[in-house]
Amino acid sequence: MSHDSNYQLRCRECGKTWGNVPRSFCEDCFSPLEVAYDYHWLKKVAKRENLAGRAFNMWRYSELLPLTDDFTAPMAAGGTPLVRSQKLAAQWGVKSLYLKNDAVCFPSLSFKDRVVGTALAAARRFGFETVGCSSTGNLANAVAAQAAQQGFHACVFIPADLEPAKVLNTAVYGARIVRINGNYDHVNRLCAQIADRFPWGLVNVNLRPYYSEGSKTHGYEIAEQLGWKLPDNVVVPMAGGSLITKIAKAFKELVTLGWVEDRPVKFFGAQATGCSPISDGVKRGLSRFEPQKPNTIARSLAIGNPADGPFAMKLIRESGGWAEDISDLEIIDAIKLLAETEGIFTETAGGVTAGVTKKLIVENRIRPEETTVVCITGNGLKTTDAIAAEFPSSEAIAPRLEAFEAYLDAQLGAAAAKA
Ligand SMILES: *Cc1c(COP(=O)(O)O)cnc(C)c1O
Ligand SMILES: [Zn+2]
Repeated sequence: MSHDSNYQLRCRECGKTWGNVPRSFCEDCFSPLEVAYDYHWLKKVAKRENLAGRAFNMWRYSELLPLTDDFTAPMAAGGTPLVRSQKLAAQWGVKSLYLKNDAVCFPSLSFKDRVVGTALAAARRFGFETVGCSSTGNLANAVAAQAAQQGFHACVFIPADLEPAKVLNTAVYGARIVRINGNYDHVNRLCAQIADRFPWGLVNVNLRPYYSEGSKTHGYEIAEQLGWKLPDNVVVPMAGGSLITKIAKAFKELVTLGWVEDRPVKFFGAQATGCSPISDGVKRGLSRFEPQKPNTIARSLAIGNPADGPFAMKLIRESGGWAEDISDLEIIDAIKLLAETEGIFTETAGGVTAGVTKKLIVENRIRPEETTVVCITGNGLKTTDAIAAEFPSSEAIAPRLEAFEAYLDAQLGAAAAKA
């Protein structure tokens, strides 16, 4: 057996296998397909020691990803810091709090660089020359950047009213951008039809099973950075609900391979109240989530009909975790708090995760003595519009010392008057 033949697509419901093809659902029962590996073979070839000489990025876990034998890493993606929190942990009264910081993920500053890494490897394997996606912003950035570097044509589809910084961060790489009058769920439906009609590799549509495997590397890195240990809790932002399930898959694989000791990990999902179909479903104990029409500043999480929602709900319940959501005002507060305490500037999705973590601690669902990892997945420079009103610019002064002294007097006077 070789790396190529060690995995194939399998239906998550009926279990039927489909080989390796660019498609995302089972033709028999219309359930999603997933990459399934031969772990018996992997146990023999994938050793923790193999990692020693490899650079710290997502490709160091190549054996555990759906790549081909002739795969060579095109660009270092992932490999982000796991930051041990001091100030935030103290403020929230917990002992062991870590921030997995994909706000600085290479190359496009969100965890979507990871999923695009494995998706473009699949696009190459299947011979696609044009790649694309339906996106809430970050995925378009990641597709555009890596397509440019690897020589693919890129065509991305986005809701027309996306944040300007996210649109610019796609355009700069030379990608074709198609703006759609509608929300993400409309865009995604159109993309399913486009994938049927055009010979294109749409990373989160017909390449979705390969795409989502890239998220596992966020989980592998967490375990490795904790010294090959699993945490008690993980708090994960949810849009389509894929990342949270893939971190769970990553942890399970590491246990299967004997790279970490087995222990129960609780999975906590985070959403914005303005688009919270998954957390709503968990909190109300629904057997199926109810789709919503998104209305929140957390645009990157604004998926009202999440493809992996049912799997995320099941994981959260079975792990003994929970899901929560917070308001837009709470998101803004959490963005500021993370910046002021830990020096990390995250986008609205990171505000959701940080704010929800606080809520879970207050609710005592996350306990003080436990080890908790909070997944920060995107960069604040992409969503400055969401918090700009919080920081009006101050008046300019003349370039003279007296002017500065007068300025200081006025500031201190104002502060004294306030106190
Ligand atoms: C896409 C995205 C997510 C959620 O990913 P899913 O796998 O769809 O749940 C979280 N954070 C950011 C910043 C994202 O762009
Ligand atoms: Zn099936």
